[in-house]
Amino acid sequence: MSAELDELKDLTRALRRRASMSDASDWTSGRGAKAADAAAPESAPKTAPAKPARNAAPIAAARSGSLDELATKIQACRACELGKYRLQAVPGVGARDAKVMMIGEGPGFQEDHTGEPFVGRSGQLLDKILESIGLSRKTNVYIANIVKCHPMKNPSDPESHGNDRPPTPEEMDECRGWLEAQIRAIKPKVLVTLGASPAKALLRDQTPITKLRGQWRTFDPGGGLGPIKLLPTFHPAALLRNPELKKDVWEDMKSLRQELSK
Ligand code: SF4
Repeated sequence: MSAELDELKDLTRALRRRASMSDASDWTSGRGAKAADAAAPESAPKTAPAKPARNAAPIAAARSGSLDELATKIQACRACELGKYRLQAVPGVGARDAKVMMIGEGPGFQEDHTGEPFVGRSGQLLDKILESIGLSRKTNVYIANIVKCHPMKNPSDPESHGNDRPPTPEEMDECRGWLEAQIRAIKPKVLVTLGASPAKALLRDQTPITKLRGQWRTFDPGGGLGPIKLLPTFHPAALLRNPELKKDVWEDMKSLRQELSK
């Protein structure tokens, strides 16, 4: 709870720094929109980075293959506690040769029921954000999460609403091998993390997302692919809760567009 309060304080400080919104893109409007989205919360517990999963080498070997092969394997995976209670795993969606890979936190209620990441209000907003810089999950973006199964407060009741929670560092460490294999299969030019959890987990950096966002970093998914540029930004659900944050995300999207034009 104290970690969530810390994160809330960070967001509050960020909001105070901003007096107005001025950019023209249509998704950046909508001040006063009510915050109510089924997506998982912005923040994850602020703990030390988890230790690498046990038997990392055999796991890495098993977590390889084409994007389709990986999706089949992910849908069958029960390697961690999350797999015991999910309705279905959510591998990802989008272009196989995507130049941008967007990485969220984990499936929520709707994703668990549909098998597709970023559906509902967060997904619609993400699509608008992508569209504003000429990107689309149908043509040049792949969207996935750092954990593939729905983290629930009460795992015994996957049919209840308001049951989402952020994945723990241990859960993200257990599952990240799938994401790394997906990155190796797609070979995107740029990674964009959405929200605090995937940024902190991939970068092994506990800096608040309000400070991490907008800073270009790199992430190496292994397999000899080498470091890939990574841009952290806010999760669309955070924008639904706090529309003033759209200005920051618009700045990040302009930076992404510039990077892609190089
Ligand atoms: S969360 Fe990841 S590691 Fe855990 S069961 Fe689902 S796919 Fe497997």
